[in-house]
Amino acid sequence: MPLCPADEPGHPQHPAEAAARATGLADLDRVVTHCRACPRLVEWREETARTKRLAYRDQDYWARPIPGFGPPDAPLLLVGLAPAAHGANRTGRIFTGDPSGDLLYAALYDLGLADRPESVRHGDGLELYGVRITDPVRCAPPENKPTTTERDTCRPWITRELQFLRPTVRTVLALGGFAWQAVLPALATAGWQIPRPRPAFGHDAVATLPSRTPGPPLRLHGCYHVSPRNTNTGRLTPTMLRTTLREAALSAGLHPNPM
Ligand code: SF4
Repeated sequence: MPLCPADEPGHPQHPAEAAARATGLADLDRVVTHCRACPRLVEWREETARTKRLAYRDQDYWARPIPGFGPPDAPLLLVGLAPAAHGANRTGRIFTGDPSGDLLYAALYDLGLADRPESVRHGDGLELYGVRITDPVRCAPPENKPTTTERDTCRPWITRELQFLRPTVRTVLALGGFAWQAVLPALATAGWQIPRPRPAFGHDAVATLPSRTPGPPLRLHGCYHVSPRNTNTGRLTPTMLRTTLREAALSAGLHPNPM
């Protein structure tokens, strides 16, 4: 029997209640996968898994929320948008199983921040070094467009993740304007001050967020999203991605490979 209505994974308050009770990052990563707080996204993630894409018709889709991926003491956090219906929603790992992820993991490997250039699926043994990747919306949305209500309902998960990462995280790299806007309120709740005027997203934009308590500030870097729309048009080239990732890694105190 649930202790209160918010213990039901489909209750809109479930993310806030369950995230607050998580005892650590590993617990949070486990608990989030049971969330069903957004009816439209639950329907979409499961419908996609039933109908499948022809190329993946023999595969079992993950069809649940996607937890963050990477070490719990990462100094650098990459923030995307939401899982892709036939990418992470299929493979169970963030940015995995689609062209966006292929580019991102190849760049991380080139910079010495991953132990291999490809991410195949949840549980394939891939290791990231000093980098964690997460999304502000954990379920695949139709047309990659979550509503503002869905974004806000999901916010407690990333907020709690940032609270757990707070002792070590020094830099957040927002992949796209949605990530930038979505992560700011989560950072404010997790203990950093948002400058006024609110910093604007741009490729290579950098903002410094002082800590509310004694401690180092956090740097927020911007990078165009690794979406096919940006990469196929040349708005974001592989070199631009590596350059921006490297800058963010350096600002986090990591030692990425030279380009
Ligand atoms: Fe839960 Fe977030 Fe998925 Fe909504 S998007 S069902 S809040 S995990």
